[in-house]
Formats: sequence, structure tokens, C-alpha cells
Amino acid sequence: MLSERTVTRFAPSPTGPLHLGHAYSALFAARAAAEADGTFLLRIEDIDRGRARPEFEQAILEDLSWLGLSWPEPVRRQSDHFDLYRDFLHMLEEGGLTYPCFCTRKEIQAEIAGAGHAPHGPDGPLYPGTCKHLSARDAAARRGAGAPFAIRLHMDKATRMTGPLHFTDARFGTVAVEPESCGDIVLARKDVPTSYHLAVTVDDALQGVSLVTRGEDLLHATHIHRILQTLLGLPEPAYHHHPLLKDTDGQRLAKRADSASLRSMRDAGTRPEEVIARIEAMAHTASA
Ligand code: GLU
Repeated sequence: MLSERTVTRFAPSPTGPLHLGHAYSALFAARAAAEADGTFLLRIEDIDRGRARPEFEQAILEDLSWLGLSWPEPVRRQSDHFDLYRDFLHMLEEGGLTYPCFCTRKEIQAEIAGAGHAPHGPDGPLYPGTCKHLSARDAAARRGAGAPFAIRLHMDKATRMTGPLHFTDARFGTVAVEPESCGDIVLARKDVPTSYHLAVTVDDALQGVSLVTRGEDLLHATHIHRILQTLLGLPEPAYHHHPLLKDTDGQRLAKRADSASLRSMRDAGTRPEEVIARIEAMAHTASA
């Protein structure tokens, strides 16, 4: 049997400077590719038009090169592919698996507070499904009147279609997908024709990513990505969700206000080998 070539990726969002946690994640992906004589890709996840900045993107490229990483050009930038995500969204819409959601954040919070016992996922209460019950006529009227809307996945219908699913992770083993912990996730935001989940699923497949490596804080997102892969007929990659770097006091790095950016360390004269050594020492603590 021909073995599949390993393709990994690092997919930062250019919404701020890279810090040590990002560097660890990028090195992790690059090493996984190198160990398998595969390819490491860089992808810029800039669908959040309000927060993404070209100067952060430029800094990401420079900081990663400074660390010694390289990748094939051109780098894929998600904001260049909105039409493509729209096409994949249409496939789900045509399958009757979506519905428009007009709710504001405030309305969702009020609905959840009023319900008293809203189902929860790992990131908090799930969308209570308010707009799922809108008649097609009411929804069309609101769209016609110009009300902004997101597109959500009708998770019950989606699960009936996919049946039970699993994914395989190098640390967590075989993980059963739990659609009930995901709820009716957003596929397209009010302001952009995609969401993180849709764009990542499409891109990983189209770029031939065979091993998705990322922090374990995104483990739950993989439940959603397996469902979308199955609905869209896309291949299933292998996964390796790595531990998050912790500082010596055990606090997660990214959460710290003073978490050192690569740029500030570089400006202070730190050499890339020293940064890598520091990351390795912290990674040892994180996985111990
Ligand atoms: N863009 C995401 C982030 O910066 C990572 C996405 C992923 O690795 O799937 O958190």
C-alpha cells in the first residue's frame, strides 16, 4: 500500500503578536512533518475582518522565519477564499442542513437565562435553537427586510445523516464525536460567509493536510470538524492535540498578560536557539 505523504500545518490568526505558545505549536507541526519526511504548511486564518491586521500577518512570517521555519509559497490566506467557503456552505444549505439565525448575542443570553436549564458544551451554554423554529415564511420576511443573519448547522439533522463518528488522536486515542456537546454551530457569521469551523475543515482538506496538530484547547473543535468533513465528503486527517505550554507556576501561557511575544524577546537580543531551548524546557513541564 502506498503510504500517504504527511502534510502538517500551523494556522495562526493575525490578531496579535506571536508568543511562546504559538512558537511551540508551529515547531510541533514543523517537526511532525520533518520526522515523516513530509511537508509543513503555514496558513493565515484571517476571516475575522475586524481583528485581523496585515502588520500582524507580516510579523508572523518574519518571526517564524527568524525561528528557522520555512514553508512552501504561496501561503494560503483565508480571506482570499470566501467564494470557496460560500460554495461549501451552499452544499449544506441545499442538503437542508442549515437555517438562518437572526439572534443577537444579547437575545441568545436572555433566552438561555430564561430557559434555566440550557444544555452546555465545553465553551459554555449552547445556542438554544430559537431560530430553528422560525417558519420559512417568517425567515424569508426577515431576510427581505434586511435583518442581518448567521447560518447555523441543524445538528439533529446532520447527526441523523452522519450516524456515529470518531476521530483518532495521537494522545487521546479514538474519540467518539459528541454532537450534543456542539449544538447548532455557526457555519457563516453575520459579517463573513464562513466561520472558523467551516473554513478550517475546507482548507485542511483542500490543502491535503493529513495530520492536524494543534493545542488541546481545540480538541472539542475536532468533534465539529469530523461532522463537517463527513457531511461535505472530505477526507479525515489524523490528529495530534498537543499539551499547552505552561509557565513554571503552572499557568497557561496564552492567558498571561505578560506572556512574552517572540518579537519582544528578539528585540531584547534573545537568539532563536535560546527561545527554542526555553520552549523545550516548558514543553517538558507541560507534558510531565
Ligand atoms: N486559527 C486558529 C487559532 O489561531 C487555529 C486553528 C487550528 O489550528 O485549527 O487559534
